[in-house]
Amino acid sequence: MNYVAELLAVGTELLLGDIANTDAQFISQGLSQLGITVHYHTVVGDNPQRLKEAVAVARTRANIIITTGGLGPTYDDLTKQTLAEAFGKTLLLHEPTAQRLRDYFMRNNKREVPANSMQQAMLPEGCTVLQNDWGTAPGCAFVAEGIHVVMLPGPPRECASMFTNCAIPYLRALSDATIFSRTIRIFGLGEPAVENKLKGVMETMENPTLAPYAKEGEVLLRVTARAGNQADAERMVEPVLHMVADTLGDAVYGFDVPSLEAVVLDLLKKNGVTLGAAESCTGGLFAKRFTDLPGASAVFQGSVVAYSAAIKEKVLGVPKDVLEEKGTVSEETARYLAEGARRVLGTDLAVGITGVAGPDSDEKDNPVGLVYVALAGETGTYVRRIYMGKDRNWIRTLATLHGYDMVRRYLTGKDIETVEELR
Ligand code: ATP
Repeated sequence: MNYVAELLAVGTELLLGDIANTDAQFISQGLSQLGITVHYHTVVGDNPQRLKEAVAVARTRANIIITTGGLGPTYDDLTKQTLAEAFGKTLLLHEPTAQRLRDYFMRNNKREVPANSMQQAMLPEGCTVLQNDWGTAPGCAFVAEGIHVVMLPGPPRECASMFTNCAIPYLRALSDATIFSRTIRIFGLGEPAVENKLKGVMETMENPTLAPYAKEGEVLLRVTARAGNQADAERMVEPVLHMVADTLGDAVYGFDVPSLEAVVLDLLKKNGVTLGAAESCTGGLFAKRFTDLPGASAVFQGSVVAYSAAIKEKVLGVPKDVLEEKGTVSEETARYLAEGARRVLGTDLAVGITGVAGPDSDEKDNPVGLVYVALAGETGTYVRRIYMGKDRNWIRTLATLHGYDMVRRYLTGKDIETVEELR
């Protein structure tokens, strides 16, 4: 059976823009890992008529409907009632939930359960109750007219925990197939470039499927296979990994690895190589992200945040005439930063980053987004000149990733300076 899910988020505050629909993001990620396709996210306010209309539409285009929100005790919490009605079910008192509520109120408030709170124990007849160990409103799941309905509470912590612990096992049991997926991580090629290179294959692949998504300056490709058992699914994924690695070349930096910096940390450890940095426009982000990794201290010595020209000169030895003639954002300065950091910090490798993070151009009228990243090592100093668009955070993040990427390429004997496409 091929399952298609639709997520129905209920809550006027979502429509007002007061909060983002993070529940949908979390659930969609989980569904894609289960190999369940999602075609629509719908958001509807706390209005039973419009919710009914949204359900009427959803049931024509999905066989799994997952709702979030509107399960609580207040007058506008109408999800259960509306969904039950839409599928011809009545709400019945679920005694174990009622007892949990009685215990909860006695323990915390020393009183009986108020009538409105007891609403939470009214659940659609014949449903599977999804116990909420993170709040009071239980979720539930039922199947009617060939459509699986799963209702989860709105608060993100409750929603995420219940989705992971209750809904995923329920959904997994629907399928007799095993889903297995692996993630290919890519840096140095934008999503359009990846799609271009893999276009013919991606469009025709059905099982396994190959789905790209962009993540903070990187591209991830998920290969998902569906088979009768785990071993078969794993076997089906394997050749796709190799095909992608062959097609995309050096831009592929790992399978199922947590991040680019984690790969770099591993490589540094394996090779017994130490790392340092001199950072201008990234202001310490290179060091921050790297030292977020447990065990970074084994190889990472430190980073000099050389924001002003004076510090670049005094601490890292960038010659004054280079700073004045070539500018603080220049290939030469980047080189001197990396070499200065390597010398001052006494490391095997050092990265130097200088660029225009904006909002204004620099003293030489270099445009916002122009960044030079250098890597100094035993075999020489390598520089990348990159143009990264206008967003300050984006520029800083991407510059940091380029620094890690150059280290990765140095340690794996790949071309360090060339980068095919950035965005
Ligand atoms: P409660 O028992 O707390 O009333 P509920 O299931 O009735 O839970 P809502 O009342 O609809 O949920 O929402 C409770 C809170 O959860 C909202 O104020 C909001 O902060 C958060 N929330 C609801 N829906 C979402 C969503 N889709 N994404 C992120 N947060 C959400």
